[in-house]
Amino acid sequence: MKATTTFAGSAASPAQFPKDGLPEVAFLGRSNVGKSSLLNALAGAPGLARVSATPGRTRLVNFFRVGDELYLVDLPGYGYARVPEAERGGWEQLVTSYLVGREVLALCVVLLDLRHEPSQRDFSLRDFLEHHHLPYLLVAMKADKLARGQRSRRQHALAASLGGTQRGLIVASAATGLGIDELWREVRRAAELRREGAA
Ligand code: GDP
Repeated sequence: MKATTTFAGSAASPAQFPKDGLPEVAFLGRSNVGKSSLLNALAGAPGLARVSATPGRTRLVNFFRVGDELYLVDLPGYGYARVPEAERGGWEQLVTSYLVGREVLALCVVLLDLRHEPSQRDFSLRDFLEHHHLPYLLVAMKADKLARGQRSRRQHALAASLGGTQRGLIVASAATGLGIDELWREVRRAAELRREGAA
């Protein structure tokens, strides 16, 4: 049985990150990839994370608390065409300050679209995570938009194209719930390992 997930607040700077020491699992991906939809599906609560929020509301780090177990952390999506270059630096800095040196960070979940090749920003993110030795898992969204037979072919192509030390690639759909249980298992396992490592 999954603990209840509740919105625990947003942070515009590191001073506002939670201080209670629970393990955190962070979600990253380009805008529109389905990050809010995935968080809602994980929580089993359709309105928890906003779907298709406007750029202005998505430049904060949002924390969702799962019982007394862990936080799901919604990091700002990248690649908003409408965000002026000058403003991009601000939220990139926030994401970087979160990822680097966040001791309770147990796992990064990098979202992709199963139908598309990774973008240059996806490759940069992969390089960043590798460089900082941050554990990460790939989740390829919108699987419901592909025929069953195409899914595993795309899954292997994406995993091969991104390479690296990722902990696997889960094919998922917020529309059908595919992959959600598998992702929960990985999230819980990473949080457990983090707790043991910290003990
Ligand atoms: P975000 O910007 O990454 O938070 O993306 P959203 O969660 O707002 O999703 C962007 C759009 O993709 C919305 O119209 C969602 O309904 C749709 N979407 C997200 N995940 C899926 C999925 O797994 N399958 C399908 N068919 N549509 C999805």
